[in-house]
Amino acid sequence: MLIRLAVPTPLRRSFDYLYKGTAPAVGCRVVVPFGRQKLTAVVLSHPESSQVPSSKLKYIDKVIDSEPLLPDVLFKLIRFAADYYQHPIGEVFANCLPTLLNKGEPARLEPEWQWSLTTSGEDAIPKIRSNAVKQKQLFQLCLEHNGVITEQVLGLYDFIPSYLKTFEEKGWLVRSEQKPSQVVYEPEAGYDTESVTLTNEQEDAVDSIKPNFGSFKGFLLDGVTGSGKTEVYLQLIREALSRQQQVLMLVPEIGLTPQTVKRLERRFNVPIAMLHSGLTDKQRLNIWLKARAGKISIVIGTRSALFTPLANPGLIIVDEEHDLSYKQQEGFRYSARDLAIVRAQYEQTPIVLGSATPSMESLHNVEQGKLSLLRLTKRAGEAKPPHIKVLDVRQRHLNQGLSQPLIDNMRKHLAQNQQCMIFLNRRGFAPTLMCHECGWIADCQRCDRHMTYHQRFKRLHCHHCDKQVFMPKRCPECQSPQLNPVGLGTERLEEALKEIFPDKSVARIDRDSTRRKDSMQKFVEAIKNDEIDILIGTQMLAKGHHFPKLSLVGVVDTDGCLFSADFRATERTAQLLTQVAGRAGRSKGIKGEVVIQSHHPDHPLLVNLFTQDYQTLSRNILAERQEAQLPPFTAMAIFRAEASTLEMPMTFLNDVKQQLKQSDLSVYGPFPAPMPKRAGKMRAQLMVQHSLRKRLQQVLSPITPTLEQLPSSRKVRWSIDIDPQEVF
Ligand code: ADP
Ligand code: ZN
Ligand code: ZN
Repeated sequence: MLIRLAVPTPLRRSFDYLYKGTAPAVGCRVVVPFGRQKLTAVVLSHPESSQVPSSKLKYIDKVIDSEPLLPDVLFKLIRFAADYYQHPIGEVFANCLPTLLNKGEPARLEPEWQWSLTTSGEDAIPKIRSNAVKQKQLFQLCLEHNGVITEQVLGLYDFIPSYLKTFEEKGWLVRSEQKPSQVVYEPEAGYDTESVTLTNEQEDAVDSIKPNFGSFKGFLLDGVTGSGKTEVYLQLIREALSRQQQVLMLVPEIGLTPQTVKRLERRFNVPIAMLHSGLTDKQRLNIWLKARAGKISIVIGTRSALFTPLANPGLIIVDEEHDLSYKQQEGFRYSARDLAIVRAQYEQTPIVLGSATPSMESLHNVEQGKLSLLRLTKRAGEAKPPHIKVLDVRQRHLNQGLSQPLIDNMRKHLAQNQQCMIFLNRRGFAPTLMCHECGWIADCQRCDRHMTYHQRFKRLHCHHCDKQVFMPKRCPECQSPQLNPVGLGTERLEEALKEIFPDKSVARIDRDSTRRKDSMQKFVEAIKNDEIDILIGTQMLAKGHHFPKLSLVGVVDTDGCLFSADFRATERTAQLLTQVAGRAGRSKGIKGEVVIQSHHPDHPLLVNLFTQDYQTLSRNILAERQEAQLPPFTAMAIFRAEASTLEMPMTFLNDVKQQLKQSDLSVYGPFPAPMPKRAGKMRAQLMVQHSLRKRLQQVLSPITPTLEQLPSSRKVRWSIDIDPQEVF
């Protein structure tokens, strides 16, 4: 009576338990004693025998689910992910399931209510006093919905539930549970009529994908910014819906979802769920359960939405597939984009990866024939590509980072009632604070980095470990009161722009100014309503947004991006600059202009990016990667370890290296990490590579689980990162 379980612990193995009575099926949750705790575990298999002597095996406490929690395909995907990313299976399940299911809540959809008008209710309508406004409205709503109002309908208006109670008590309305019904897509009058004539390229893309519904095929939709990729998605979504199938759409982490959801809602009269970080656990579970039951037609969300169960999937879309936020950078380090392709294979659906700046991985997959390339080379509608200029700022006077030609250019665009965006990817007032007398610099005690000065709160903040302290009044070294901000951050730029353009409205959009839940949404609306003239944008504004009146984009500090130790730096900078530039001039009749300030105007990246295009540049980058045998031409993994001294992680990683000695992997290191000290811990890393992904897996799979038995492993925190996106 054995079962093998995925128990949420950091140990890289499964656990065997005993049960009495009928066997809980594979994929069901059970509660088990584990040490002194009770944990929720998932049944993996029913093994014949266990390596643990039966006298030592424990009994499970209880079975939670009578049926498997996940559709087979998703169960298989999660198991694959645990193997591929070499992460403890229990933690992987815990990562992929909604919190409440991990806590053992039943996987049952809460009933959804509806209220029907009774005959005495009908009789009461003409007798309502004319000043009982709310009561009249409620009756009105009933009549408009054929005498039955649902929770969903009520959610659209703000009727206080107590009113419903009163109506129920009077016998005017009767409450009942809504019948669970499969959602059917019926194009309805008033919806789906926002008709567009597709461009030839859009039509070709749609026509190439459509015949592949019902089977697996991967596509890369490589379309310049503003070329109408979203319109292509919408056409494909329509196809899936008309086949009564569900759609899963992944979007990057920041700021994009509300706009896309609005566009979907305008177009399709079907239940849509958006998975975002603002949801309560309860809401999240509810969406999960409804999607599993087929009651949601379109699920849109960030990275973790990939693990939403679907009863009847028809299409997977990954928008901005190059975006770094698809890779989880801690704990279970998976790539949602890569797993989405695996999922599409298992589900037998087409998958579309879209981007204006495809990742090298995806372009390589095109070359290998694993993805089919579809291109949109022109902007949709009548918008023209922006004019891009690299401005040499050597020896020019800079006013808080802004050169006079850029300021003049802004004046010109503002005078034509258009908007400008200044891009600076560094929040805070200044990157650090320095003593004018002795040169002391505000460094983080816990990291090898400076602390950022935030003027608004008179605080120093380490963006690496989150430590915050009040700004000292005097220099800690020499007691001088002359502490000056050094360098440029978004707060300081905001101050400067308000001074240069006193009669224009300036909005700074960074992580600090958008902490409140709906603040990003408010900014986006204000920009679209033309209430803002000048935007200061960080990464958050770089992609996806469509601001019709934005005509000038200025990038003030490009040089910081050009020099970095990471081999992906060129790719990332090319993507960022192309995306930022792509915000300019997206409407008919508005000429877009992009000004890139640099002290290195001859840097090959800048020269190539703007004299050629992203395509040519990416071809060069791929050639360099092949030459250097770097990803995507080789498979890479990084072991990372940290502890209070550097010696401990180095010892552990050397032990790991010993284990790999017999293998045919290339092993580099261990080295101290490029940023050796972070949050008070000393960090080191070991890099391994093999030209064949399979081989890397074959070697690591048996070794990784044994590493936790190394004595040196007890003194460190360690992790393994398969297909790392950052080599830091
Ligand atoms: P992308 O996602 O490629 O950046 P969008 O799908 O947001 O581009 O499209 C950019 C703009 O062009 C949007 O305002 C969109 O409504 C418009 N657009 C897209 N396709 C067409 C078309 N076929 N005809 C006219 N306008 C279009
Ligand atoms: Zn000093
Ligand atoms: Zn720090």
